[in-house]
Amino acid sequence: MKLEYIWIDGYSTLRSKTRCVESCDTDAILKLTWNYDGSSTNQSSGKDSEVLLKPVYITKDPFRTKNDYLVLCEAFLPDGMPAKCNYRSKAKDIFDKYTELKPMYGIEQEFFISKHSKPIGILGSQMPDPQKDYYCGVGGDNAIGRHYVEEALDNCLKAGLSITGMNAEVAPSQWEIQLCSIGIEAADQLILLRYIVNRTFEKYGLTMDLSPKPLKGDWNGSGCHVNFSTERMRDEECYDNIMKCITHLGSKHKESIKMYGDNKERLTGEHETSSFDIFSWGIADRSASVRIPRDTVKNKKGYFEDRRPSSNMDPYLVTSSLLKFIHKV
Ligand code: MN
Ligand code: MN
Ligand code: MN
Repeated sequence: MKLEYIWIDGYSTLRSKTRCVESCDTDAILKLTWNYDGSSTNQSSGKDSEVLLKPVYITKDPFRTKNDYLVLCEAFLPDGMPAKCNYRSKAKDIFDKYTELKPMYGIEQEFFISKHSKPIGILGSQMPDPQKDYYCGVGGDNAIGRHYVEEALDNCLKAGLSITGMNAEVAPSQWEIQLCSIGIEAADQLILLRYIVNRTFEKYGLTMDLSPKPLKGDWNGSGCHVNFSTERMRDEECYDNIMKCITHLGSKHKESIKMYGDNKERLTGEHETSSFDIFSWGIADRSASVRIPRDTVKNKKGYFEDRRPSSNMDPYLVTSSLLKFIHKV
């Protein structure tokens, strides 16, 4: 069988390589550590270049046969420390500590379809009309590259990711795919979503562009909103508690924003974004840092949406810090 080992490199982008082994079950795969040359991934020096790969999460491989797997790994240095940009190790400690809260994350990954770092919806040097009918748009002038995203979506589903939806976004060739899961699995799945979408696009010489502001000027950037709840928020009427969590999160805004990806150019207060420097919240308010859905107000329970994370955020930092900041409230 073929195992595709996937990891995060020292630039927070993804790498993978193939290992062929005799057939074995998934428990055995989780024990199959491997390694790679960290000097080529900005994670070690050439002198002591071996970085260890430790499998942590496995799904079916939608690009190969039904016997093949994608193997998400954590990267470790020879001394046992997490390699550069491996934020999963620390996140895992936080998740293990607060397992009983059953934190749920609905993550909305926005991205552009790009070729040579340029969104394919931009033809030549001519910029199309800003904010036309791209959002949830239909027709060749609006929904640019739909067939690539459809194929990527199918591949995510074939792999078994907990996908919840997909839509065309507000800029030409900008799209969004959403997933929802509990605990660290949500972050693991988001990494695999990014991998699968990018692998699907690769076939066409295209790239999943996660940069938060690929088009300068009067255009929306890409975000990665995170909808958050604990089991209590979902099951009990506890609106006061939800509000306390949001207020407390606001007091940690400076700390959070550092972990939320490249946001300087994106969080301008324009185009349904909030301020980079100042925390805000609002009911059904898409210009706030945190949005409380109307249903959550009405039912006194549910979830809230953190709209601050950018498209290139690290999901381990974002999901674990949300849990860390609200666990006491
Ligand atoms: Mn959305
Ligand atoms: Mn969106
Ligand atoms: Mn959203």
